[in-house]
Amino acid sequence: MITASSGARAMPTFTPVYLGGAAALATAAVAGSPRVDRDDVFVPGIEALAEGEIRVTILGSGQPWLTKAAATGSVLVEIGNAQREVMVFDLGSGSLANFSGLQVPATALKKVFFTHLHTDHISDYLTLTGSCVKAGRLDPVEVWGGSSNKPSRGIAAFVEHIQAALAWDFVGIAGNILASGAGATATEVPYGRTEVICDRNGVTITSFPVIHVLNGAIGFRVDFAGQSAVSSGETTPTMPFVEVAQGCDLLIHETVLPPKAFAEVMGLPIELAQCIVNDGHTPAAAGIVFDMVRPAMAAMWHCHVTEGDIDPVFAAVAGTYSRVVALCQDLTVFNVTPGAVGVHQATVDPMQQAILGPSDTGRKIGPRVPTPEWWKASAIDWQSKISCAERALAAYAPHAAGSRHGERRPHTRRARETRPPPRVRHDRVERRRDGHRNRPRNRRPVPCACRVRTRHHG
Ligand SMILES: [Zn+2]
Ligand SMILES: [Zn+2]
Repeated sequence: MITASSGARAMPTFTPVYLGGAAALATAAVAGSPRVDRDDVFVPGIEALAEGEIRVTILGSGQPWLTKAAATGSVLVEIGNAQREVMVFDLGSGSLANFSGLQVPATALKKVFFTHLHTDHISDYLTLTGSCVKAGRLDPVEVWGGSSNKPSRGIAAFVEHIQAALAWDFVGIAGNILASGAGATATEVPYGRTEVICDRNGVTITSFPVIHVLNGAIGFRVDFAGQSAVSSGETTPTMPFVEVAQGCDLLIHETVLPPKAFAEVMGLPIELAQCIVNDGHTPAAAGIVFDMVRPAMAAMWHCHVTEGDIDPVFAAVAGTYSRVVALCQDLTVFNVTPGAVGVHQATVDPMQQAILGPSDTGRKIGPRVPTPEWWKASAIDWQSKISCAERALAAYAPHAAGSRHGERRPHTRRARETRPPPRVRHDRVERRRDGHRNRPRNRRPVPCACRVRTRHHG
């Protein structure tokens, strides 16, 4: 059980999830005085979102080089308001697989905020609009992201071009499934100044500029019911970030391994590693920013979590920051509640499918695109062959559940298991004394156009 603590304690032994660890990687499991105790392990569907809570779950914690252990950049925020709003900050590769595991309704995910448009932060946006719609998402997505000094690099152009690039997918699903969830609208956020960009249902989102590669990279602060969480996106230590983050409860800052460790993990020359790391967002640098803000809980994100580097990362950040700090993995969960921020680690069913909830959009299927002419001549008529095979089966086990022609047979494992065993028709297997089978009684020849050789063809 998590115990209260207001400061750092002796370094625990850190074991990452992919090596069997179950607890979050943090110098303390809670900062402040929580009103409820929480287990070390977060089990989806068990721990309800509390009134007034901001629950932050890391959907993607890793680097652009995707691994089984870590999806790429994405942070989920659930709001404990009446609407139980859900929003996501970035959608990197693999992040929606983690989202499904959390059993949060996919229909509730309608707000997407992009910190910047590096591929490791946007890849699963295609999954959300192109694939989750096939799971039953009905509402269009609202997208916020940075403008840029060149319009072609802003979020509006990105959304428009992704919609155009997915034409094959979106045109194809029209008429087959409910395609409204594939739609998206974009709102550009000023890249050069801090601004409140969304204020609804008691939730205020503020964006601020950060220094990362090009104009258009931003970070976000979420305020709700007196609680707050800030995500830097990717940035070198930046003053607007420090200013906006003042007084926040949870501060998530991009952190990268120091160049030497980075070079060893990636197998890169030290010069190239130095260039990528850019010396700005190492654990020591993140600690300097944490100390300028002094949040209830600080978190390092977007960092390699490799077995040999965890202790050095915590040691490095301890050199510049002495309060509670966590190192994010996929599915690290932060509970931001009045008077306390807790951290624990979710465990999910890897086969959990996306679940659905209510939608604002009605169910309306559009017209279907005509199928190409050449398909008629080229398609294999498998359905009539299946039909013939089923009729053949019915002829030999006519009382098996659902075996009559035209009746849907049970396909689920449970249905198959509960189906009564087929009754053996001895008249089908009796043989005449001369060795020939009896002709089945009470059975008319079944006309069939297929070429499948089955017993009913005689
Ligand atoms: Zn980036
Ligand atoms: Zn990134």
